Amino acid sequence: MAGETILVVEDEQAIASFVAAYLRKDGFAVRVTASGREALTLVHSEDPSLVILDLMLPDLDGMEVCRRIRESSTLPVLMLTARDDDLDKIAGLEAGADDYLTKPFNPRELVARVRAILRRSALRAQPEGGILKHGDLLLDAGRRECRVGEEEIRLAPKEFDLLWELLDHKGLVLTRDQLLERVWGYTFAGDTRTVDVHVRQLRRKLGDAAPIVTVWGIGYKAGPAPAETG
Ligand code: CA
Repeated sequence: MAGETILVVEDEQAIASFVAAYLRKDGFAVRVTASGREALTLVHSEDPSLVILDLMLPDLDGMEVCRRIRESSTLPVLMLTARDDDLDKIAGLEAGADDYLTKPFNPRELVARVRAILRRSALRAQPEGGILKHGDLLLDAGRRECRVGEEEIRLAPKEFDLLWELLDHKGLVLTRDQLLERVWGYTFAGDTRTVDVHVRQLRRKLGDAAPIVTVWGIGYKAGPAPAETG
C-alpha cells in the first residue's frame, strides 16, 4: 500500500507532527495542514486516500470541512475530537465522518483505525459489488448509489455499508458488535453508539423505504419492504 497519501488536518502542531511521524513510519505519504479551507483544496489537488480531520480548527471547523467533502466525495474521514463528548462524536458522524477518535489517543490505535478504514474502502471499491433491491429501494455497490424509485438518496459511506449489510442479511438480527466488525472492520469491541447514530441517519433519510427494526437488547435487522407487507 506504499504511496497512499493521508491528509492530516490539525492546527495543534505537536499533535500534527506526532500523527504524521507515526503514519510515515507505517509507510504512508502524509500532507499536513492547519487550515480547514486549505484542506478542501488539498483534497482535490493531492487526491488523498483518507483524511484525519480535527474538529476544532481556526478557520472552517472540522464538521463543515467534512460536510463539504461529502458533497462531492466518499473519501474516508476519521474525525479527531478534543473532548470525550458524545455530542461531538454524534455530530461528526452525522456530518458524514466514517469514524472518530478522542484525544488523547494511542498512535497505534490511530494507525489501526486508518488501516481498517482503508481496507473497507478498498473492498467496497471493487466493481463486482452487485445490486441489492428491497421494495422500491435499490443499492448499487459498484456506483455507490442508493435510490428509492427514481430518487437518488445521498448516503455517507458508512451509512451505505451498514444498510448493505442489513439488507444482505434480510430478516436476520445482527448485533451491534457484528455490525461494527463487518462495517467498520474492528476486531475489538468498539463504541456501539457509532452503529446507533448511523441507523438513526438511515431512518431519517430513507424512512419507510428501508425499515430497520431495533431488536431490543440485541441489535438490528432489516424489516420487510413496504411493498412486501402488502
Ligand atoms: Ca484543533
